[in-house]
Amino acid sequence: MGSLTFIGACGTVTGSAYLLESKGKKILIDCGLYQEEDFLAYNRSFPFEPKEIDYVILTHAHLDHSGRLLELVRDGFRGEILTTQPTIELLDIVLNDRLHLEPQIGPRNLPDKVRELCWAFEYGEMVDIPGDIHFRFQDAGHILGAANVELWCEGKKIVFSGDIGRPGTPIIRDPTPVKTADYVIMESTYGGRKHPPFSLAKRQLKAIVTSAQKERVRVFIPSFAIGRTQELLYFFNELVEDGEIKPLPVIVDSPMALKVTKVYARHTELYDEEALKRLERGDKIFSFPLLFSAASRKASQRIEELSPPYVVIAGSGMVTGGRIIEHLKRHLPSRKTFVVFVGYQAKGTPGRAILERLPRVKLNHSTVENRARIFRIEAFSAHADHNELLIWLGHFQEKPKRVFLTHGEPRARSKLLKAIREKYGLKVEAPGLNRKFVF
Ligand SMILES: [Zn+2]
Repeated sequence: MGSLTFIGACGTVTGSAYLLESKGKKILIDCGLYQEEDFLAYNRSFPFEPKEIDYVILTHAHLDHSGRLLELVRDGFRGEILTTQPTIELLDIVLNDRLHLEPQIGPRNLPDKVRELCWAFEYGEMVDIPGDIHFRFQDAGHILGAANVELWCEGKKIVFSGDIGRPGTPIIRDPTPVKTADYVIMESTYGGRKHPPFSLAKRQLKAIVTSAQKERVRVFIPSFAIGRTQELLYFFNELVEDGEIKPLPVIVDSPMALKVTKVYARHTELYDEEALKRLERGDKIFSFPLLFSAASRKASQRIEELSPPYVVIAGSGMVTGGRIIEHLKRHLPSRKTFVVFVGYQAKGTPGRAILERLPRVKLNHSTVENRARIFRIEAFSAHADHNELLIWLGHFQEKPKRVFLTHGEPRARSKLLKAIREKYGLKVEAPGLNRKFVF
C-alpha cells in the first residue's frame, strides 16, 4: 500500500508539495514556497524530516514549486532531485535570487549544494526509482523545462499536472496530452476564468507601442523574469523583424531576466514549430535592432539619458521590488508615461494599486503620484484557463478513478470541481492540507 499526503497548495496558489510514500521510500513531488501574504507562516517548518526524504521530483523552477529546496537541503536532505535540464539551470537562478533577497536562510553556497543533488531527464524518458517506482516527465507547456509527471507505483498510475500551460504559448511547445491515470493531481489556478487567446497579446502590444511612438512617450513593462520577459522579447522580435513596428529602443533592465533569457536561448531543442522556423530562417528570436540589456546598475541609470519613445522591461512583475521601482518613482507622475501590465497583480501589491489607478501609490518608502496611462494585456498567461484545464483533463481516454484539485484559491478550485463533475462525471476532490490518501 502507498500513500500520498497533500502538504501544500491546498486552497492556495503557492506552496506546491506532495509526499509520496511507498515501500519505505519517501518522495516529494515539488517543494514549493508559499508566497501569499496570509500563508507565509507555513514556510517556517516541514511536516516531515528533510533527511528522511529519498527523492524530490521537481516539475519546474517557479519558486512556488521549488523555492523551499533551499531549506530542505539546509535542514539535512541529501537525496536526489530529479528534474529536466532547463529546470536545473533556471532553478540555480531563482534560488540564488531568493537567497540574495533573504540572506538569513543560509550560507551563500546553498544553491550550489542544491544543484549538486540535481539529475536531469528528458521529456518522455522513463526513470526508475528503487522500490519498483517509475516515472517520466511530459512537456507541460508552462515555462521552459516545465513538466507533468506520470508516475507508476504500487500497481497504480498517478499523474501530477504541475502547472499546466496554454496552447499557443510562444517559444515553447503546447502541453503534451496525458492519456491514462488512476489518480490525477491537478492544478486549478484559473478555475472559472477565461483568458483571451495568446495571439491577442501581440496585437495589443503592437497597438500600445505604435501609439507610444506617435506620442513619444516612455513605456514601462513590469515583467516576471521567467517566461514573460522572453515572450515579450519574442513578440518584439516578430514585430520589428517583420516590419510591423518601427524599431525603438527596448531595454531589458533586469539581471535575472537576462540570465533566464540565456537559458531560453540555449534550449532550442524545446522550441515549438514557429520559433524553430524563425531560427531556420536565420532570425535569432531574442535579438532585434535596438534591443539593449542593462545588466549593471550603472547601465540601468543611463536609461534616463535616452529620449523617448523607448520601452523598459524590468522586474519585479508586481512592482514589489527590483529596478522597475526607480523607473516608476521618476515617471509614474507623468502623463507622458505608459505602464503596461502583462501579468497577474496580487492584492496589496504596488502593481495592483497602479493598475487600479489609485491617485497615489507607495513605492518602497516613497509615495508617488500616479498620472501615467495604464494598460493591461490579459492574454499573457502561463496557466491554462478554465476551459483549457477541462480540455487537458478531457485527453484521458479512460476515466481516472479520482481527481484531486490543488493549486487554486477556494473559489477557483470549487468552480473547476463543479465543472469536472458535470462535464466528465468524475470523482473529484479538493483536499485539505495534510490530507493523506492511501492507495
Ligand atoms: Zn509555475
